[in-house]
Amino acid sequence: MLTKPYGSLGFPVSAIGFGGMRFDLNCTDDANAELLCYASDKGITYFDTAPDYCKDRSEDIYGRAFAAMKSRRNQFYVSTKGMPEDYDTAEKSIQAVEKSLSRLKCDYIDFYHVWCIRRMEEYDLAMRPGGQYEGLLRCKEKGLIKHIVVSSHLRGPEIVKLIDKRQFDGILMGINILNFLYRWEGVEAAHQAGMGVVAMNPLAGGIIPTHEKQLAFLAGPGETATEAAIRFCVGCPQITVTLIGFTTREHIDTACRVADSAKPFSQDDIQRIRRHVTKNMDRLCTGCGYCMGRCPKDIPIASYMQYYNEKVLVGKTDSEMAKGLDIQKKWGILVDRKAEAKDCVQCGRCELACTQHLDIVRRLEKIATWE
Ligand code: SF4
Ligand code: SF4
Repeated sequence: MLTKPYGSLGFPVSAIGFGGMRFDLNCTDDANAELLCYASDKGITYFDTAPDYCKDRSEDIYGRAFAAMKSRRNQFYVSTKGMPEDYDTAEKSIQAVEKSLSRLKCDYIDFYHVWCIRRMEEYDLAMRPGGQYEGLLRCKEKGLIKHIVVSSHLRGPEIVKLIDKRQFDGILMGINILNFLYRWEGVEAAHQAGMGVVAMNPLAGGIIPTHEKQLAFLAGPGETATEAAIRFCVGCPQITVTLIGFTTREHIDTACRVADSAKPFSQDDIQRIRRHVTKNMDRLCTGCGYCMGRCPKDIPIASYMQYYNEKVLVGKTDSEMAKGLDIQKKWGILVDRKAEAKDCVQCGRCELACTQHLDIVRRLEKIATWE
């Protein structure tokens, strides 16, 4: 497995990381843990999870795997997270770290993230006196955390502000072959500042594998769009680790193969992609689910927004979208809905939570015209 130095700290980490957000929950926790052990055997050393991922099962799945991998604990890195709004005091922050340690069955966490900074107010909340960051510093003093890092869904110029004070060793951000034109400033700034840069959503939340045909322009000769997307992130010297949410051994094999032979994109490749990629592709729903549970009307926002991706990506007509919506409601991702797009009361809560900063209200208005 290709390794890269982690920012200016310089220790080697695997270029591919295991993201714990997309386990197949029809499988047992033991079966999913076995997938992590398989990834470790293939040379993956960076394992990222969080409380709440996969209906709150992810940290426990990792814990099962780490118990089995205990004898080589110094050969892999454990990464997890806590949100400033959930742990808004130093004491709560310490308790969250202790809870994650217990679930992960580890004595220490290598990378602990101030998680999901979507607005600067969330950063301010984490950094205020007596807040989350202070608790994390205390955990670091006790040896419970090795590195305090940050995960952010801010845009380029705001990321530059976030990293300016050098409070974090690394940063996790959503970067991929479809959105890089609009997010590169932050990646470049973090790299220049000597931070480890970890890319989440390199496959745009599964959009690339499920739209191989429409996104064929991403691929070079003899590769798929998915392989090109992995190669893009792995091939960028500014990106340290590319996180992928694996669900099968075959996916791990593919990612390892692509990483080991990753040829960086040439300027011609970048120009080719630039011709096709539009600003809209920075505005795709990644299915992250952060909007879930926020809607007073119980509208299945993520499902509606993922369906809307078809309009953004392929430019389907309104009548095609209306027909497709009907099918989704009868057989697809909207079959279990408790409310419709037209039930939206425009309270705006979902937009505050959205990691992609989508204009959900306006999109639901549009979708309502197809219902
Ligand atoms: S704006 Fe609409 S969809 Fe969003 S949380 Fe409010 S009611 Fe729900
Ligand atoms: S609408 Fe936004 S928050 Fe919800 S799943 Fe999509 S990207 Fe994530």
